[in-house]
Amino acid sequence: MSDEPRYRVNQVWRGLWEQDLDLRAITTIPKALREKLSTELAPSVVALEDVQSDLGATRKWVFQMADGATVETVLMTYDDRVTVCISTQAGCAMGCTFCATGQAGFTRQLNVGEVLEQVFFAARAAAPRRLSNVVFMGMGEPLANFPVTVEVVRRLHEYRGLSARHLTVSTVGVAPAIERLALLGLPLTLAVSLHAANDETRNELVPLNRRYPLERLRQACEKWNDTTKRRLSFEWALIDGVNDTEQAMDELSDYARPLHAHVNLIPLNPTPGYLVMGSSTQTVKDFRDGLIERGINTTVRNTRGRSIDAACGQLANVTNAKRRAVQLRAR
Ligand code: SAH
Ligand code: SF4
Repeated sequence: MSDEPRYRVNQVWRGLWEQDLDLRAITTIPKALREKLSTELAPSVVALEDVQSDLGATRKWVFQMADGATVETVLMTYDDRVTVCISTQAGCAMGCTFCATGQAGFTRQLNVGEVLEQVFFAARAAAPRRLSNVVFMGMGEPLANFPVTVEVVRRLHEYRGLSARHLTVSTVGVAPAIERLALLGLPLTLAVSLHAANDETRNELVPLNRRYPLERLRQACEKWNDTTKRRLSFEWALIDGVNDTEQAMDELSDYARPLHAHVNLIPLNPTPGYLVMGSSTQTVKDFRDGLIERGINTTVRNTRGRSIDAACGQLANVTNAKRRAVQLRAR
């Protein structure tokens, strides 16, 4: 657009960032320019699949990128907010045993455009509701694609006005990256996927724990708190008999209390490569109550989108019956 006047650039910018419009729908610019731009700026993600559940309140897309790699994005509409869950990598190299993305392995990093376009696409689909929250909890480990995650957060803050309450980055616990992120002072909420507060169990569930064990992770969390002055949250997927016991409750509360962390419990969602069951609904409630009694601020995340494999940890570019075709990682 270098030969266009400055106000045209502003019109396009406002259409894309503020009004959630497709280039062809930005009627403040002439039709010929709209056509030209839509050809020149072809989207870097194309929806291959679009599935819904919860009466349309949860929607999942499988997006294909120029080289054929695919990622998934989930849009969740609530009474008080509209949240999109975006992917930062195609697949994931971290190999968490209970996660479908981890089970399927790593394909490649996404670039800034590929991540932002998931947000734009979801924002257009959400209209007339305004997309209010972006969570980096889809496929991949956001802190293993550090520069892209940082740039996307910056742009969402600068151009869409989203701030820490509306931007959440979830990490498996890459300790040095948490420390680097803290120093950048970005407006975001950090969620750390803890799942176990003793090294033996966490080594089994989250292989990265062997590299950054709980004590090292604790130091990074402390640095996050001290530097950003914002409250951390821990995610904990409740797995029957593994991390839903009285002992697990004690270990988690001892770990979370000095860090003033909030705990978000996630009932384990089924994935093809992990045969252990999620905790029962009653156990989830008891675990929550036990943590609250121990002075820990605790909430339970709902399991939106299970029937379309759109819930936490189920994203693996396959939907329902097709899921059996996923190549499991050799162990
Ligand atoms: N890689 C990042 C973000 C993506 S995973 C991370 O691990 O934090 C988003 C969340 O879903 C994480 O808390 C992850 O531990 C959780 N998760 C993965 N598999 C799950 C499953 N089968 N059931 C419930 N939660 C799961
Ligand atoms: Fe990767 Fe997160 Fe899944 Fe672990 S839980 S394999 S880090 S996407």
